[in-house]
Amino acid sequence: MTATYESTFVESEERRDLRAAVRALGSRYGLDYLIACGKEHRPADELWREAGKLGFLGVNLPEAYGGGGAGIQELAIVLEELGTAGCPLLMLVVTPAICGSILARFGTDAQKQEWLPGFADGTRRMAFGITEPDAGSNSHRITTTARRDGSDWVLSGQKVFISGVDAADATLVVGRTEDAKTGKLKPALFIVPRETPGFEYQPIEMELHLPERQFQLFLDEVRLPADALVGDEDAGLLQLFAGLNPERIMAAAYSAGMARLALDRAVDYAKERTVWKDPIGAHQGISHPLAQVRIELELARLMTQKAAFLYDAGDDLGAGEAANMAKYAAAEAAVRAVDQAVQTLGGNGLASEYGLASLIAGVRVGRIAPVSREMILNFVAQHTLGLPKSY
Ligand SMILES: Cc1cc2nc3c(=O)[nH]c(=O)nc-3n(C[C@H](O)[C@H](O)[C@H](O)COP(=O)(O)OP(=O)(O)OC[C@H]3O[C@@H](n4cnc5c(N)ncnc54)[C@H](O)[C@@H]3O)c2cc1C
Repeated sequence: MTATYESTFVESEERRDLRAAVRALGSRYGLDYLIACGKEHRPADELWREAGKLGFLGVNLPEAYGGGGAGIQELAIVLEELGTAGCPLLMLVVTPAICGSILARFGTDAQKQEWLPGFADGTRRMAFGITEPDAGSNSHRITTTARRDGSDWVLSGQKVFISGVDAADATLVVGRTEDAKTGKLKPALFIVPRETPGFEYQPIEMELHLPERQFQLFLDEVRLPADALVGDEDAGLLQLFAGLNPERIMAAAYSAGMARLALDRAVDYAKERTVWKDPIGAHQGISHPLAQVRIELELARLMTQKAAFLYDAGDDLGAGEAANMAKYAAAEAAVRAVDQAVQTLGGNGLASEYGLASLIAGVRVGRIAPVSREMILNFVAQHTLGLPKSY
């Protein structure tokens, strides 16, 4: 296929229609809805279910399992537009992007049949647990371990900061198994239904107004049937990598949506608010930082589109570098967008009525999770620039 100007830089009519349809849904809920869910500690079930019915949650999942048969580009559009409307859903990063991509690529047919149609229509959710208290950014250090007992698996360990466990039917847990030949531990993924005996979850109190709470998980001799293991025992690392690019691309879309929301609100305000003879938007102290945010945001969105394009085209390696860069750039743009929006609104920037203060912590998440900005800088320093590693 020859790339043309249109196919490279102009969004297709189909994608523009998808944006508009998602935006229309998101506008019926908005930021107030999201903040209310966050304050009441309840998952945004109404929005999730409606988005499922409209086919937005599973746009990237295979048609054979109830999905839309499109790609991560479309799923990123869904998240970005919900964010721009004020109601980004963190679980879109987790259920259809991480868990959906891994299961669609590596799950057994029975696992796909069991989970993917429910992901697509919004009736089932899956959380994803890799982070551990003593491992953090160093996922090579995780100690959650699975041992075989007859045909069963027995899983023990701890996880921390796992999003949405209370609303999820199961958690995809990254554990380790012992290689029969070498005795070395290697990663393996297990589907752990929420009510399995020995699986406990406790909410962590966070200063975030998000519908998705974070949980500490305790897995104490959790007995699982043989088919809880995702795909092949020897493909754990490959499976994990298959989830990382969609996760980062979606994290970038999450940040970009909130950045657009903040910028829109700031620009509207700057056009109206007048305390001298002209609206405050006429002062370059206000207009230039907003213009700068717009430029940084557009650059981040362009890189996100590149990463999603490469991923959908099957170039995992190319997508890896672009997804890391996009996630970094979008998080930085979102932090600056919200900070500048708050500044533009003056005192109102911190007033509950305008909702911007609630985004301050929200956009900070993008700098920390799912991978911190320092770990992205490490990746680029080592893989892109070929610099030596310090850790
Ligand atoms: C809102 C939220 C939702 C989350 N949801 C999930 C989820 O659903 N599932 C899940 O598995 N995890 C989840 N996480 C966890 C998230 O992925 C981790 O917080 C993140 O990977 C960082 O790990 P850590 O918090 O242990 O920080 P640490 O690893 O302790 O790092 C602390 C600081 O040290 C820096 N640092 C560490 N190592 C290096 C190094 N080599 N070079 C330079 N700097 C370094 C880090 O960048 C960071 O700034 C979530 C976190 C948050 C905040």
